[in-house]
This record gives sequence, structure tokens and C-alpha cells, in this order.
Amino acid sequence: MSTTHWLIIERDEDYIAKYGEDPDQPERKFSIECSDPAACPGWIECREDHSDATDEDNDRGLDGDEVMLHGEAHTYRYGYDWCVDFPGCVVIERAFEGDDHLEIARTHGLGRHEIDTDWDDDTCYLIAVSDPAEAAS
Ligand SMILES: [Zn+2]
Repeated sequence: MSTTHWLIIERDEDYIAKYGEDPDQPERKFSIECSDPAACPGWIECREDHSDATDEDNDRGLDGDEVMLHGEAHTYRYGYDWCVDFPGCVVIERAFEGDDHLEIARTHGLGRHEIDTDWDDDTCYLIAVSDPAEAAS
């Protein structure tokens, strides 16, 4: 694994200043920190036109090879067609689409928590590396 990610959980001070704090449901601000966004692995379906891909390109793509199309390295993925490397950190982009960050806030509280990511297709699951008891101390 080449990059490390942290989930940063902070009090949402702007919100609390404006609306007050509900102790039962404190407002939280979430962000993801990536140790190296430029090197972070990830891919995205390429929306450019690929009609210039030759039969040979297609064959190589289906074999799992990287193919240069319109000046960029592409990989072929079933169900997505041609894909390119995601620019930057795909975890930052996708981390908050589920509820995992809310769950980690509940179990781990405020702070900077190292996380593992688990991908199911294009859904990104966040898993706290430390256990809750450890984080709470
Ligand atoms: Zn990343």
C-alpha cells in the first residue's frame, strides 16, 4: 500500500457558533488527508472519444495491458470501458458517499484517525485502523 489516509473529525465551529451545540448530536466536520495524493492509486472511467482505438488497442486492453489513447495511459475495465488514472486522491473524492465516516465519529470521536479503505466496485468503505477503546483514551 503506497499511500496512507486519515479521517479528520473536528467540531463544526461555524455551525455551532451559528446554531448552538446539541450535545446529543454534535455537529462534525469531516475531511480526508492523503499522504501522497499524486501517487494515490485510483481510476475513473474516461469520457473522451475512443473511436480512434484500433482493433489491436482493444485486444491489448482486453488482455489487461495499458494502452495509450489520446496521449494518456488507459486500462480497460469490464462494465466501465476505458479508464484512466484518477487525478489526485480518489478516497478524498469518494469517502463521504457512504455513512462510514459518521460511524467512525460515533465510535472514535474527534481527532485524526488512520483509516484503511476497502473498495467494492466504486463504493469506498472506510475502516478505522485503531480500535475505539484505544482512540478514546
Ligand atoms: Zn489518497
